[in-house]
Amino acid sequence: MDERTVHVLRIGHRIVRDDRMTTHICLVARAFGAKKAYLYDADPKIKESIEAVNKRWGGKFEVQIVDEWRRIVRDWRSKGGVVVHLTMYGMELDEAVQEVDDSKGNILVVVGAEKVPREMYDLSDFNVSVGNQPHSEVAALAVFLDRLFKGKEFKQRFVYTKYKVVPSRKGKRVVTP
Ligand code: SAM
Repeated sequence: MDERTVHVLRIGHRIVRDDRMTTHICLVARAFGAKKAYLYDADPKIKESIEAVNKRWGGKFEVQIVDEWRRIVRDWRSKGGVVVHLTMYGMELDEAVQEVDDSKGNILVVVGAEKVPREMYDLSDFNVSVGNQPHSEVAALAVFLDRLFKGKEFKQRFVYTKYKVVPSRKGKRVVTP
């Protein structure tokens, strides 16, 4: 998998309505190879539910609730990282992944909820579309991470796990390693 660390920043959250979406952002980020998610203004229960997932299914995926998203973006860039903002208006995915691959530094992937403030488009190094139709931040994040890691994210090891799934054609096989 790519040596570089990937974190995810979720910058919008509509109270109650978005709880499930924001939880799914974290689940997808964790399962698809990112190491941490910053959640702007979200319910702290989401952090607890992801920590419970870590306990059951392993790994050290982190969630941080933040009250200022601009600082996360600026700090990331000032430390030499690149910022990728997913939006239906952005540059074409394959071209963007190529350029992100060629760039240096860790990667912060930003996803929105409803309308994203205009300044996010200027603060990011890459505004990237996953197709030019409106769909979902969860889908956009999954597709982007999969293209970035080229499928290798599914080979990552989740350490300190309580349970491990053994892939099988029929039924469910879960072992306790
Ligand atoms: N007008 C929005 C946009 O700029 O993509 C769609 C809003 S959508 C409800 C919420 C979030 O989903 C967006 O902020 C973006 O991160 C993500 N998203 C939706 N469709 C996307 C697409 N085709 N490509 C990349 N990201 C998308």
